[in-house]
Amino acid sequence: MDLVVKLQQMIEENIAGRAVRDESPTIGPSSAARGCVLAVAYELLGMPKPEPDPRSFRAMQVGTDGHRRIVRYFGHYVVGRELFFHDREYGIRGYCDALLYLPPDFAGERAGLYALEVKTTGGLEFERIRAGGRPREDHARQCQIYIWGVSRYYPLFQVRGGIIFYENRDSLEHLIYLVDPDPAIGAYLDRLKRAREGVLGRGELPLDDRLPDEHWAHQYCPFLDICPPGQEAVRRQRAQGPRVPDQVVADMLARKLLARKQAERRQGRLAGPRSLDDLAAALGWTAEDDG
Ligand code: SF4
Repeated sequence: MDLVVKLQQMIEENIAGRAVRDESPTIGPSSAARGCVLAVAYELLGMPKPEPDPRSFRAMQVGTDGHRRIVRYFGHYVVGRELFFHDREYGIRGYCDALLYLPPDFAGERAGLYALEVKTTGGLEFERIRAGGRPREDHARQCQIYIWGVSRYYPLFQVRGGIIFYENRDSLEHLIYLVDPDPAIGAYLDRLKRAREGVLGRGELPLDDRLPDEHWAHQYCPFLDICPPGQEAVRRQRAQGPRVPDQVVADMLARKLLARKQAERRQGRLAGPRSLDDLAAALGWTAEDDG
């Protein structure tokens, strides 16, 4: 069919609100990036997820608002925001936060197109990522899916990598990581594709293709309530106690204290350096905490 005729038909259907919908279930890049193939299968089956509590809902809203603001930080290097992509073969559909073009006079040998992923986090999560010195595993995977998805949907775009931008919601500090394309994402996405065919075609759940039992993400999974292996993993983890490394907590406390001191200085409330007693009082430590 002539392209002009096709465009006319499409526009008329859109104007009439009758746009042709692809009804086969799809998942978004962040769901695909979880790393648990079983969770993806639950999602494709439309299994119910609990509503986020008001605090989580507010954090999500703040995150969405923050995305728009943060993308503006990249100024004229933004080629497109919320770049749509849809891979029918793999059933992944969603938006890359932005596509950036970093020109040679700015990026030198690293000039080119980059898929941008923006994440806003709480203070503890931010310090965990900073202490680890690299993006969180699922965020890195999501960035790989952006690179993969945008490259497949827009084959003329030569996406040379990704950028993950973290913002600490509490302090507005930033962390930036450059991500090179990782061919290993192909094998992971092939597992998702096989699981998709199995669950939608034959009703088979990939019960054995899931996150390792010791992984932290089970307890934040929206399908935990309906997932016996995930519940068992969480039960075992809870029996073993919390897993936040001490030095990360210490680092976070130190940074919070520093930020508070700086704020107090700005407000003229702090005359000089604090004593250890002041520090203990500020952190809410009591005599029982010593020794
Ligand atoms: S609870 Fe754990 S095993 Fe179950 S779907 Fe979620 S992440 Fe996967």
